Amino acid sequence: MVPAVVKSARGEAVDTTPSGCLAVPRGTDRVRRSQRSGTDVDSHELVGGTVGSTAADATAAGASAAITDSDTAVAGDDDVIRLVDVTKVFPGSDTPAVGGLSLEMGRGELTALVGPSGCGKSTTLKMINRLLEPTSGEIYVQGVEIRQQPKHELRRQIGYVIQQIGLFPHRTVAHNIGTVPRLLGWSKADIRARTEELAEQVGLAPEMLGRYPAALSGGQQQRVGVARALAADPPVLLMDEPYSAVDPIVRKQLQDDLLALQHDLHKTIVLVTHDIDEAIKLGDRIVLLNVGGVLEQVGTPTEVLRAPANEFVETFLGRERGLKRMALITVAEVPLTPGPVLAADAPAADAAAVMAAAGTEWVGVIEGDQMVGWAWGRDLTGCALVGDAPREPFRAYVRPGTSIREALDNIVNSRTRVAVVLAEDDDRYLGMLTVDELAEALE
Ligand code: ADP
Ligand code: MG
Repeated sequence: MVPAVVKSARGEAVDTTPSGCLAVPRGTDRVRRSQRSGTDVDSHELVGGTVGSTAADATAAGASAAITDSDTAVAGDDDVIRLVDVTKVFPGSDTPAVGGLSLEMGRGELTALVGPSGCGKSTTLKMINRLLEPTSGEIYVQGVEIRQQPKHELRRQIGYVIQQIGLFPHRTVAHNIGTVPRLLGWSKADIRARTEELAEQVGLAPEMLGRYPAALSGGQQQRVGVARALAADPPVLLMDEPYSAVDPIVRKQLQDDLLALQHDLHKTIVLVTHDIDEAIKLGDRIVLLNVGGVLEQVGTPTEVLRAPANEFVETFLGRERGLKRMALITVAEVPLTPGPVLAADAPAADAAAVMAAAGTEWVGVIEGDQMVGWAWGRDLTGCALVGDAPREPFRAYVRPGTSIREALDNIVNSRTRVAVVLAEDDDRYLGMLTVDELAEALE
């Protein structure tokens, strides 16, 4: 049981809400201001439960040691989050907001929960950190059913980021980021070092740390929200529509930054969005929900785009499903053919057979391992060597890491109707791609 009033690490009395989730030094202006902030989630719940009886443990054992313990206890459980037949019926409602949902989220994966407005995405997320209790069903986080442990222990493993961000307006950015470590009783020096490290990780300039939230753009505030959620290095991050309040350019930047951050940190992230393109871009797996929290399909973005389970999914994926899929497949995944090419010092007479085989009226010209351009077949007549004919350069190249969507764009804009592929680091000629080959790769 969580006591209603416990001592924080510094011995201050600490409030808990009736549900036991709120735990902040009593009487600080932080509490009162955030309660007026009008967000649908109290700011403390973002970082919630990180004190209470935990704070005492944390002081004794050191916060990071305490967190490591809970990690090792569940080593080997690959599904960090598991929902088993979870239903939520809100009081006064006769239809479930979430109906019999079973899901697994793998360790280190970003799972995008996507679906139309009101389909139960936020409800699902809030049940994972116990801001809401399921009507029935079980939820496991790191192998433990979440009601088998105190809320603060659950939430110590979970960072939470929401669209409204919920920063403390009268505290500096540094203070905001350091909220959880401070509640865990870290030393000032440790908090400062961690805050600076986080600022760098999320792409906040050091001079931002001394500012107040209102002096930051929406995008910068969102970065602070992410830094704060990551402060005590929780293995799980829940993100509810984190980018829907920022403009498209900032959104794209924040999405790219999240991908880069995730590349380094390998958190288990559940990200809620109504934007299918965001889900496709960010998700290792996407979970498509329909109204009533009904599961329509789970899969990698490419799986879902290649084979939508039903009409709902197909409609939700929207137009240009093929192009969206092409954006996720790289040139490296397509078998490359050498294409109609000849060495510059080859006899020009060889060109006829090469062009006939490829169905082209031109040949690519190679010197050593470099592609040096292409020549019309008609210009080769009368030349001794391929290299003697006038040549035109290929204007654009693709690399193994290029998406095949970009390769397609390259092809339709080129006079030769091929994309020339060069090695990533040394410009070696690797091969050519045609529209037919791209289409085959999609099958
Ligand atoms: P989403 O995040 O997918 O837009 P929500 O999970 O917020 O959807 O809501 C799912 C359904 O549950 C909606 O019909 C919504 O009106 C209802 N709902 C959400 N929160 C509450 C609540 N606290 N009380 C009653 N109904 C709610
Ligand atoms: Mg929502």
